[in-house]
Amino acid sequence: MKKDQSRIIREQATRSATREHSVPLYLTSSFIFESAEQGRAIFAEEEEGMVYSRYANPNTTEFIKRVSTLEGAESGLAFASGMAAVFASFAAFIESGDHIVSSRAIFGSTHQLLTQVFPKWGVTHTYVNTADIDAWENAIQANTKILFLESPSNPGLELYDLEKLGELKKKYPQIIFAIDNCFATPYLQKPLKYGFDLSIHSATKYMDGQGRVLGGVIVGNQELINKLMFFIRHTGPAMSPFNAWILSKSLETLGLRMDRHCSNALALAQALETHAEIENVIYPFLPSHPQYELAKKQMKAGGGIVTFEVKGGKDRAFRFIDELEMIRYTSNLGDSRSIATHPATTTHAKLTDNERESLGIKPGTIRLSVGLEDKEDIIEDILQALESTK
Ligand SMILES: *Cc1c(COP(=O)(O)O)cnc(C)c1O
Repeated sequence: MKKDQSRIIREQATRSATREHSVPLYLTSSFIFESAEQGRAIFAEEEEGMVYSRYANPNTTEFIKRVSTLEGAESGLAFASGMAAVFASFAAFIESGDHIVSSRAIFGSTHQLLTQVFPKWGVTHTYVNTADIDAWENAIQANTKILFLESPSNPGLELYDLEKLGELKKKYPQIIFAIDNCFATPYLQKPLKYGFDLSIHSATKYMDGQGRVLGGVIVGNQELINKLMFFIRHTGPAMSPFNAWILSKSLETLGLRMDRHCSNALALAQALETHAEIENVIYPFLPSHPQYELAKKQMKAGGGIVTFEVKGGKDRAFRFIDELEMIRYTSNLGDSRSIATHPATTTHAKLTDNERESLGIKPGTIRLSVGLEDKEDIIEDILQALESTK
């Protein structure tokens, strides 16, 4: 089997003596050694074998293999949540005195790590708020250990040029280049092929795709994954086998689902672009997006998030959300059900007006995670909510 989709469906945990067709759920904390000698050999890493589910479990191992296939990665690790993965991707490598370069538009909790947690350990950071590659290079210091970014960003859907960043990596091989690839998913964007070292995901989002379980995953080159493995084995942010079982099965349909998320999102973005009650629409695969060419170059499609600004500021945005009939307001994204959120008063509420402005978040900004419903129904719900709040 050469093609990704076949491998993702067919490469599964070894069949048990029961000869099941679909992989069972391995709810077990530990694994039996057939003999004292086998116990010794497995601990000495002379023989391969599972020991304890904090280290590895057939369900998490299968999930990791599938994500690695999708990303074209050598290896990976699974985590209890996306934030456990993001935290480990820093904490496993940084030392007191180190410096991190990061894009400014990052997930709220990642921003808290950089500004509240790591300074306690003497780790500093510089934010870069532009795609200009010179600005990224200028932010690098002699003590920079990690360069981190999200592309597309949340909720402004700004992109960073992965190819150019990959060239920068060649100039600074000692710096770990890490990307939170959650918004794009490995189906739409494969950062490792440009030279990134680590690709990180909140599996809670599109990988689950149905708003059920939390999970995180990091994939990348074997050497860095080994270092991470030491860190997580002894700090314990392991993914539960149950969540791995759910997530691994979900990966079988990731590509199909993403195609639909993207075509629905594009249809919505096009429908809103010329609407009189809309100030502006941001979607990477709309030709009006300032980085449309870059989006086409590095993403297979535009993703499932559409960000738009309703006319009339916060008051209108609130009334708009309350008037939605099918679409719900909840703090998640990447679900089969469409979700609306108001970033200025939720995910980005703690920022100053200026900070929000620089991230493109206005009082009237709505982030829509476009689901898998029929596109006509999604568009209709939004149009009726706009109409009834004029
Ligand atoms: C949700 C999210 C996270 C955090 O993931 P959890 O699974 O909620 O811990 C990190 N980065 C991005 C871009 C996210 O959307």
